[in-house]
Amino acid sequence: MASLTFHGAVRQVTGSCYLLEANGDQVLIECGMTQGGKRDELHNRNRFPFDPAALSAVVISHAHLDHSGLLPKLVAEGFSGSIYLTPASTDLLGLMLKDAAGLQERDTEWENRWRQRAGKPLLEPLYVQADTDAALELCKPTDYQQPTMIARGIEVCFHEAGHILGSAIVEISVHEEGERTRRLVFSGDLGGLDAPLLRDPAFLEQADLVLMESTYGDRDHRNKQETLTELQAILERAWKDGGNVLIPSFAVGRTQDLLYYLGKFYQAGLLKQHTVFLDSPMAIAATRIYDRYHHQFSEEDQALIKGSGKGTLRDWLPILKCTQTPDESMAINKVTSGAIIIAGAGMCNGGRIVHHFKHNLWRKNCHVIFPGFQAKGTVGRRLVDGEKQIRVVHQSLAVNAQLHTLGGFSAHAGQSDLIGWLKHFTSAPEVYLVHGEEEKSQILAAAIKEQLGIQARLPEQGQKITL
Ligand code: ZN
Repeated sequence: MASLTFHGAVRQVTGSCYLLEANGDQVLIECGMTQGGKRDELHNRNRFPFDPAALSAVVISHAHLDHSGLLPKLVAEGFSGSIYLTPASTDLLGLMLKDAAGLQERDTEWENRWRQRAGKPLLEPLYVQADTDAALELCKPTDYQQPTMIARGIEVCFHEAGHILGSAIVEISVHEEGERTRRLVFSGDLGGLDAPLLRDPAFLEQADLVLMESTYGDRDHRNKQETLTELQAILERAWKDGGNVLIPSFAVGRTQDLLYYLGKFYQAGLLKQHTVFLDSPMAIAATRIYDRYHHQFSEEDQALIKGSGKGTLRDWLPILKCTQTPDESMAINKVTSGAIIIAGAGMCNGGRIVHHFKHNLWRKNCHVIFPGFQAKGTVGRRLVDGEKQIRVVHQSLAVNAQLHTLGGFSAHAGQSDLIGWLKHFTSAPEVYLVHGEEEKSQILAAAIKEQLGIQARLPEQGQKITL
């Protein structure tokens, strides 16, 4: 009898990990990193609760690290099977894992400096570039809608999830002798309807078991059109004030959404700024990957963007200037007005954005737009909370700039879209809610019960169910 064990993203958002067993084979669905505070991240150093060498295959829904970030560790600890994911996810995964390995190495070096001085035992990095390279070699890019046998009697098929480029809903069919075929559908991270660039999530009808994400299970997002109107008004005001606009942004997903929206304003003759600087090597690389897969954009946006040239984001926003090298980045410091500067880190804890703070934050005519959530303890959060003096790159800066938080850019489906997606199943599947803080998942479960009459469950860590 086939079984599924919940090893991660249980009553929390990150660390996605589920073990499927059938016909004596083991398949891992997701190998995500736990993200958050230092204590949460220590979890990543634990031994896997299964033997990596015994796995036949791994399936990854999309390239975000909370779904894929422990793959190099899995390989370092003995996994040598195949990793199945979509072609665009494979490209993005390369970018993200290499960046993550570099960060691991640098962080450990930093941590070990004080450990050495304090006479404490030194740490090894969670993994290094060589582990990442080994993991990437095991990737088997697999197109959407391409049923593929990945272990004995275990077949996977990816469907569009509309969350980031390449993101997939994972459908797994389990064939066992003497049993009827059982179907497991894992939503991965689901995008909302009408997300920029991407196609809408696919609706599936048949499943025996559904694992659904519940990151925003407790609410709906703000209307996208309102957010865009607000963004445009801020850009207009910034232009009149004569300063620059700074936008701290995540490299993959959020940045490309912004380029799409800015292009929309530009094409309509509404964007007054003379240059949009994309000042992040990782975001530049991610944008190239988006452009390479522009045939996977929604039909509507493909047609729209094609009107301006070859159908890539670069043609769509011709005033985009990608600044790859540190010299090119530093040259932006001379620009004191009329530019939009998009840079990482998304929560302002380092990266090139803090250098732009140094040159702009103290100016009254500068505007800073936060297009996403700023976690506790980050520089971004302190700014959003209204601190008037901030210390970055060894300098104290007066915060005179005008700050704006825009709430409508989430890449996740809100409550109504999640329930709308679930509603399409006609086979009365068992439903488990994963990838959500417990309280939010509970609120979603109550709404599902009320609207669909389905009793959705929250799994326990390590719980094993038969399929
Ligand atoms: Zn994600």
